[in-house]
Amino acid sequence: MKISVSTTGLEVAPFLVIGSGIAGLYTALKLAELAEVILITKETLEESNTTYAQGGIAVALNPPDSPEVHYNDTIKAGAGLCLPVAVDVLVNEGPERVRELIDLGVPFDAEAGALLVTREAAHSFSRVLHADGDATGREISEVLTRLAKAHPKIKIKENHYAIALLTGEEGCYGVLTLDEQGTIYPLLAQATVLATGGCGQLYLHTTNPKVATGDGLALAFQAGAPLADLEFIQFHPTALHLADTPRFLITEAVRGEGGILRNAKGHRFMPAYHQQAELAPRDVVARSVLLEMEKTGTDHVDLDLSLLSPELIQHRFPNIYETCLSYGLDITKQSIPVAPAAHYLMGGVAIDLNGRTGLPHLFACGEVANPGVHGANRLASNSLLDGLVFGHRIVAYLQAHQVSFAQIPAHLAASYHVETDPQQLTTDWLALKRMAWANLGIIRQEEGLRQAQAFLSAATPNQNPALTTSYLELQNMRLLARLMLAAALERQESRGSHYRADFPETNPAWAKRIIHYPHGMEFIPGDQPFAWAW
Ligand SMILES: Cc1cc2nc3c(=O)[nH]c(=O)nc-3n(C[C@H](O)[C@H](O)[C@H](O)COP(=O)(O)OP(=O)(O)OC[C@H]3O[C@@H](n4cnc5c(N)ncnc54)[C@H](O)[C@@H]3O)c2cc1C
Repeated sequence: MKISVSTTGLEVAPFLVIGSGIAGLYTALKLAELAEVILITKETLEESNTTYAQGGIAVALNPPDSPEVHYNDTIKAGAGLCLPVAVDVLVNEGPERVRELIDLGVPFDAEAGALLVTREAAHSFSRVLHADGDATGREISEVLTRLAKAHPKIKIKENHYAIALLTGEEGCYGVLTLDEQGTIYPLLAQATVLATGGCGQLYLHTTNPKVATGDGLALAFQAGAPLADLEFIQFHPTALHLADTPRFLITEAVRGEGGILRNAKGHRFMPAYHQQAELAPRDVVARSVLLEMEKTGTDHVDLDLSLLSPELIQHRFPNIYETCLSYGLDITKQSIPVAPAAHYLMGGVAIDLNGRTGLPHLFACGEVANPGVHGANRLASNSLLDGLVFGHRIVAYLQAHQVSFAQIPAHLAASYHVETDPQQLTTDWLALKRMAWANLGIIRQEEGLRQAQAFLSAATPNQNPALTTSYLELQNMRLLARLMLAAALERQESRGSHYRADFPETNPAWAKRIIHYPHGMEFIPGDQPFAWAW
């Protein structure tokens, strides 16, 4: 559906930021040093993937580690699809951004004045900073939220849902928003920054909170900004698997400290799959866990912590310890039942090195964006860093360049989908999640992907449904699922997190990206930067 929105009498703010995870909050704080910022977010400021991040933030601060080694680890994990020039930016600008977080007051764990670092899968060195043990994201979110709330130049609008981007001749002019009273109204800005995070809620099992419904990806695409690498979604191998509890993440750091995966027969299986055993890349561990579950006919495997002392568990993983205890599981005495869950989208709105999207005046950073740093598989703990580094790049660009409209049109366009029956909302959501888990999950093949396409081709066009957040989220998820399916079908090989049972090998001819334009898919070599002409 495309509607026309009048701009009569509306003010145009310098900057608008959509989303309040690490990317949105940090970017808003830095932009506020330049001019006024409007920050909208669909629930409270604190509700985001960021808040749930546990393991920490990867950064090469001290020798013998170096940005060069961090670069090599990132490129290796990305399975041939990282954009080298973007990874270079990430690892070299990362240390400065993390020092800035420390200066802002994020209390990273330290002993005798030295920052503590841990090692995660596929990292050559211990380089992951953490805060309050395993509550890194919560600590970051709390500090940035407090600063944003206190900033006189940031106007915060919580419980404001971004329905659609507003477009016109010169690009993106802002957003059409739905507030908690159900009022729909436009917000205009010279520069709009999308920082709406990922899309884990597409799947039946996910580590992501309810807000992670891929809205920003659908909004950008419908407004004309290309998306890329959507076939690559990372599944975390170890999410808590207890009846009637959320799929709470059990961070990789638990395996880093000595946790061992055992199947239903008590057998340690990871050494048979990979030389790095429990610390193999995430896609390898996730597939191995799934195969072991299938072999033994169970819905989980066990994470055995008997090599970790109760003191270490309580001190290093207080958040996991307390959460499991609240579900009746004492992990100082019992193994943790775990299973894979959808975790992180490597693909996203294609951005250049300044965070610019293919739509003029629209920028993006964080998980919604794709600067090319994660390739086909993200190196653990690189995503918090990614949000900071490219958020900062957007601010630097806007500081150096005048981004303003020649003219504000009398009317702007807003496009969004309304293709399901609002009466069927709950049933439709569940059916979509089941479909995605079964056919667009850890192991894919043509038959399942085509079944899923057929499922999504059935729509109930609805010209005038009441617009609620969850109705609109479902529309966005359906659009995104279609694009992800198209890419997953097209990529007839296995690479990184994308595993095709019918094409199990990596094909060097596929070292290229799939870009989704409104007119269809295009391909570019994996090492070619996104370049936008504005
Ligand atoms: C359980 C868990 C553990 C993790 N652990 C780590 C880790 O240890 N290290 C690491 O680097 N990464 C980790 N990650 C990944 C990392 O947390 C995320 O990739 C990162 O926090 C994303 O930040 P962001 O700011 O881009 O998005 P988010 O933090 O997800 O924030 C997105 C914001 O946008 C808002 N929003 C979304 N849609 C709309 C809309 N339509 N209108 C208005 N607002 C909207 C949301 O409400 C939210 O405020 C973890 C993720 C999870 C789920």
